[in-house]
Amino acid sequence: MATNSVEAEIGIIGGSGLYDFPGLGNVSEFRLSTPFGNPSDAVVVGDLDGRRVAFLARHGRHHQHSPAAIPAAANIYAMKYLGVRELVSVSAVGSMRDHLRPGELVVPDQLVDFTKGRTSTFFDRGLVAHLPFAEPFCPRLRRQVLTAVSTVPGVASHGSGTYLCIEGPQFSTRAESDLNRALGMDIVGMTAAPEAKLAREAGLCLATIALVTDYDCWRQDEAPVTATMVAEVMRRNVAAAQQAIRNLTAAPREERTCDCQDALSQAIMSNAASMSDCDRDRLDLLAGPYLP
Ligand SMILES: [Zn+2]
Repeated sequence: MATNSVEAEIGIIGGSGLYDFPGLGNVSEFRLSTPFGNPSDAVVVGDLDGRRVAFLARHGRHHQHSPAAIPAAANIYAMKYLGVRELVSVSAVGSMRDHLRPGELVVPDQLVDFTKGRTSTFFDRGLVAHLPFAEPFCPRLRRQVLTAVSTVPGVASHGSGTYLCIEGPQFSTRAESDLNRALGMDIVGMTAAPEAKLAREAGLCLATIALVTDYDCWRQDEAPVTATMVAEVMRRNVAAAQQAIRNLTAAPREERTCDCQDALSQAIMSNAASMSDCDRDRLDLLAGPYLP
């Protein structure tokens, strides 16, 4: 699968509670098989406000993949294959700060990866690459997403924050939650880190819309959370994220003036001339323009 068959412009990876995207027109479904395995589910490609959009449910449409079992490399590869250049990742998170309240949206600007042993690179064999990752999210797309998020009526949003990605699937202990706050984390989730690293390697712009569902477990005076309360917050969060994405797709197209698409250009350490044909085929879609 080395050539694009579909031109989607914008990719959306939906997290907990966001398993489809109502309003897409002229829809096609793609069940892809990639050199990095099968994506979480079929990718749904459709029109939204005149833009071609590819939607994928990160956990699968039936929420069948736990965070550590999400085939993040296959998901990002599939988006690249379908022509996506800008990727918006939607993710439910816990809040580590009083001012980031349940029901609010955060567009994080930093990321800390506490996951263990997940696949977070395409270049583990055959070709080695060390990409810059000081800014884990595309600053240009972040600005656009923040504008889109901040114009959702009646929903407070925050334009910065450090997203801590933990391994899960259990939530943190209270000691971990206190420690993570002391370390400067603002929100905690289980999925953003491998996705952001893989998107950068694939040359995609990526921004995350984090949906705050609860206060993790550090606030001991917090009233006990019920499933009904969480479900209601989740419903409002998902509606807000969908509206934000519609604001984004309705906004004027912006030129990609950021460095994301050529992130790999100065990063390859290997002597690519000695790659096997097999590795070259496997990595052609991602690294082809930078190989001799
Ligand atoms: Zn970018």
